[in-house]
Amino acid sequence: MKKITVAIDGYSSCGKSTMAKALARQVGYAYIDTGAMYRCVGLYALTHSYLQDGKVDEGFLQEMMSGIQITFRPNSEGRSEPYLNGVGVESQIRTLAISEAASVVSQYRYVRSAMVSQQQAMGQSKGVVMDGRDIGTVVFPDAELKIFVMASDEVRARRRYDELVAKGEEGLCYENVLAMVRERDYRDTHRAESPLVQAEDALVLDNSHMTIEEQNEWLLAAFERAVRG
Ligand code: C5P
Repeated sequence: MKKITVAIDGYSSCGKSTMAKALARQVGYAYIDTGAMYRCVGLYALTHSYLQDGKVDEGFLQEMMSGIQITFRPNSEGRSEPYLNGVGVESQIRTLAISEAASVVSQYRYVRSAMVSQQQAMGQSKGVVMDGRDIGTVVFPDAELKIFVMASDEVRARRRYDELVAKGEEGLCYENVLAMVRERDYRDTHRAESPLVQAEDALVLDNSHMTIEEQNEWLLAAFERAVRG
């Protein structure tokens, strides 16, 4: 059967990675979480003090990026997890602080072009499901299947809040999480470099009122149509 590229873009916390992972597993494709890559850069920038007062000094971007190597390896259950300079960082990068750091570092052209080249290399043989913000517009503008996922701010903040609580993050308040979701949306859609926009040929999925099973079925049906087409 012909292999295709599946590009899934959309707002933060709208369930992109849940559906992307499920599809990749079902159809035997590789799954690449590009948000995890920007999170690794954010983690590195924070821990090496490149990120200060909500920005990185442009003069240090090249030095910072030359210190970063990101790879993915399967865990014991076969799920792919990010490694930053050889160290597994899956749980470290899922905090609110790293969400913020990722959203800041991803605004820089230098950071984006380094990430985009790596992503293009990872997906060059097709047979990949990649999720992010610019996959269907910049990384793989020729992807055979492009999905743009959205859900209301409140639904996304609730999902994010529940996820963080389940992971043990303490002192959280739903209103703060909602404000942060809106702030990240603003930064993602207003940055000068590859802002989050819907590709013209993307199928739009609003999953505000869908269960995970329903959205997985919707995606699988879209995939089957794309492979046949
Ligand atoms: O998807 P996730 O929430 O893990 O992404 C973290 C941050 O990385 C996003 O808020 C966004 O700013 C950035 N990102 C990006 N381009 C991508 C994936 C993520 O700018 N392709």
